[in-house]
Amino acid sequence: MSPDSPTSAPRNPDSPSSEATPYDLIVVGGGIAGSAAALRAGQYGLRTLWLRGSKLDAKRSRGQWVYNIDNMIGVHDGIVRAKVRKLLRGDDFAPARAALDQAPHMPISTRDIIDNAAERIEREYAEWVTPLFESAREARWVSAAASPGLVPGATGVFQVSSESSSWSATQLILATGVMDRQPQILKSRRGEVQDDIKWIYPAANREQVLYCIRCEGHLTRGERVAVIGHGEGAAQIAMMLHERYGSASLVLRNGEASEWSEDSAALLDHYGIDVRGERIVEIDSSREGMQAIELEGGDRFELSFALVALGLYRVYNELAQQLGAELADPERPPEERHVRIDHRGETTVPGLFAIGDMAWRPDEPVMKQIYTSQEYAVRAVDSVDSRRRRQERTAALQQARATPK
Ligand SMILES: Cc1cc2nc3c(=O)[nH]c(=O)nc-3n(C[C@H](O)[C@H](O)[C@H](O)COP(=O)(O)OP(=O)(O)OC[C@H]3O[C@@H](n4cnc5c(N)ncnc54)[C@H](O)[C@@H]3O)c2cc1C
Repeated sequence: MSPDSPTSAPRNPDSPSSEATPYDLIVVGGGIAGSAAALRAGQYGLRTLWLRGSKLDAKRSRGQWVYNIDNMIGVHDGIVRAKVRKLLRGDDFAPARAALDQAPHMPISTRDIIDNAAERIEREYAEWVTPLFESAREARWVSAAASPGLVPGATGVFQVSSESSSWSATQLILATGVMDRQPQILKSRRGEVQDDIKWIYPAANREQVLYCIRCEGHLTRGERVAVIGHGEGAAQIAMMLHERYGSASLVLRNGEASEWSEDSAALLDHYGIDVRGERIVEIDSSREGMQAIELEGGDRFELSFALVALGLYRVYNELAQQLGAELADPERPPEERHVRIDHRGETTVPGLFAIGDMAWRPDEPVMKQIYTSQEYAVRAVDSVDSRRRRQERTAALQQARATPK
């Protein structure tokens, strides 16, 4: 198969959602990466179907989780306040300025960024991008022989199906994300012990439980933090918190045996990082902040933050697997493996791209931030666009040569 093949008919802005003609591009995923790809595709004038996922997909996505972005330079409430303050010049607005200065922190969330991209698409690029809140269930490559009606010379298309419909496109971008593993907490409630992951959610939603040292590690400077985990990753994060931020950390293995190296064990000890193996029975936190974590047996640790370092529970890579794309980490179970990509975001299947948290480039550490998701998105759409334009140029050149002067 070859994405260079002229599978799509010439562009027709009057019928961007025509089902008879394959789209230039299908983007699957409605998070940061998918929204960035859909917006960029609209800006380039690519006929695009954007499958944003169902309510269930959205629930498990990181797009719903990140309430307060703190690491993206420029995405900050300080900018919003300064602009609003400027608008409120003059005596008439003095009370409004005072109210603004007293207003609590105005967090900018992943939801805000995604909503803004979707609004821009609807307002400015509706003729190019068709958004649908549907979950993609299956993806397959349909060769030209099995797909009558394609233009001559076409080798085939990607066909993506939901429960009720199916669509095709010359190129396909997957941006379906990942989900972190959560700690089981052995909490007692109304006399009954419930061993569940749900007990972490209130503190996680208030950003007292963190998941990303690159995004939020700096918030812990000089504070007391518990790293929840038992693998090498947890040990490395505890050491990094100590070395980088002077955070006084402690590692909670939560009933699991430690899996870190002897060197890491020696360093944890040397840095004075306490390691405890008992199960967690309580996360004591409120709107005002985290107070403490309590362990089985009654020991209680006063803390400002916890950082979960248990690795991934799922990479949503089913569609990539169905299409035969190579995954990373062969020693891990298939559902925990990232999708291998090159510098353009292309998988080992030509014309199939994977972007955002689900993707892994062999030449750099796994990057799971908002700005890296957006960068992957732009690179992938640049490649899709450059292939489409190459096709059009070839056709234009043929026409130019065939037309007598
Ligand atoms: C608690 C927390 C805090 C974070 N804080 C920051 C921060 O401050 N700064 C920062 O840079 N990064 C932060 N990150 C990381 C950042 O949130 C992610 O890197 C980013 O959101 C990843 O975007 P994504 O589009 O790859 O995935 P997601 O946002 O998870 O999006 C996946 C999308 O795919 C959709 N989907 C899934 N399956 C299907 C399907 N079959 N069909 C259709 N759609 C489907 C889902 O509905 C969802 O819309 C944080 C992460 C966490 C967990």
